[in-house]
Amino acid sequence: LAEVLEHEQHLPSETLDGHRVPLMVNTGLAVDAVAVLKPRIAGVGLYRTEVPFMITERFPGEHEQTRLYREQLEGFAPLPVVMRTLDIGGDKDLPYFPIHEANPFLGWRGIRVTLDHPEVLMVQLRAMLRASAGLDNLRIMLPMITNVDEVDAALRLLDRALAELNDEINEEGARIKRPQVGVMIEVPATLYQLEALSQRLDFFSVGSNDLTQYLLAVDRNNPRVAGLYDACHPAVLSALARLSEESHRLGVPTSVCGELAGDPCGALLLTGMGFDALSMNAPSLPRVRAAIRRVSMSAARELVEETLRFTTPTAVRAHLRARFAEWQ
Ligand code: PEP
Ligand code: MG
Repeated sequence: LAEVLEHEQHLPSETLDGHRVPLMVNTGLAVDAVAVLKPRIAGVGLYRTEVPFMITERFPGEHEQTRLYREQLEGFAPLPVVMRTLDIGGDKDLPYFPIHEANPFLGWRGIRVTLDHPEVLMVQLRAMLRASAGLDNLRIMLPMITNVDEVDAALRLLDRALAELNDEINEEGARIKRPQVGVMIEVPATLYQLEALSQRLDFFSVGSNDLTQYLLAVDRNNPRVAGLYDACHPAVLSALARLSEESHRLGVPTSVCGELAGDPCGALLLTGMGFDALSMNAPSLPRVRAAIRRVSMSAARELVEETLRFTTPTAVRAHLRARFAEWQ
């Protein structure tokens, strides 16, 4: 099977009737496999910047960060690379920046930390912008956004970083352009603020891991409640379907970069819902591509319609398995 799938990897990710579903990869550390991946993907849908921060002994400086980001941007150019600003807290701790809280997933996480430490965010933004000079493929993404004020505050810092860098650049140097900016849709509150967000941002990316955790009030890492954690819970699927519809209405390109996108059944549902791109860990690409290539868009839409009628996660899963077996 692996050989059969490998054989398809240079073929486009499209349904039987030619509907393209751009596949992107999630990255963290330096990607050695760029050469293999690049012709098969539409870009990097999520570069988790906290990953390189986890293996250093202190916050990497601006110079070091610029080098890291340049490597990603250059490696994948001209394909877009979505760089997420530091997403620590929750389950992701830096050894040199410990956070001790009773409820870390409801606490100081992601953008909440970096807006409280603008000096950390500014270094990161400056490094991203500097690394993007002359490449034009940087996109910046903000994690754990809960309200629009956080977006405005982050955008002010971005514009300040951009102005500072462009002031430094002398006449001959090419000015650095403002990249597209988007947010993670992972806190349920954002589902109800899409219009206000759309007025400020260029794209959305669904963090289905956290969105599931917060919609279901189930810790994504607690084995005691792992049986309750399910991205195919009818409430999660219904939220995703509405989100896709709403963001199309608002004209905001929306992708999914949580684990659901890397699950073949999940990917078919997200395709049927109309999401604009799916981003996943590289090992998931072959099976997702193969799954998409074996259905028509109308069948994927039908699958969504059928699935949304089930009222329990168990029934949803059973239905997905049955349909999937028929198609593959
Ligand atoms: C998510 O929450 O789905 C996501 C992609 O981000 P992370 O897993 O890094 O929290
Ligand atoms: Mg997340």
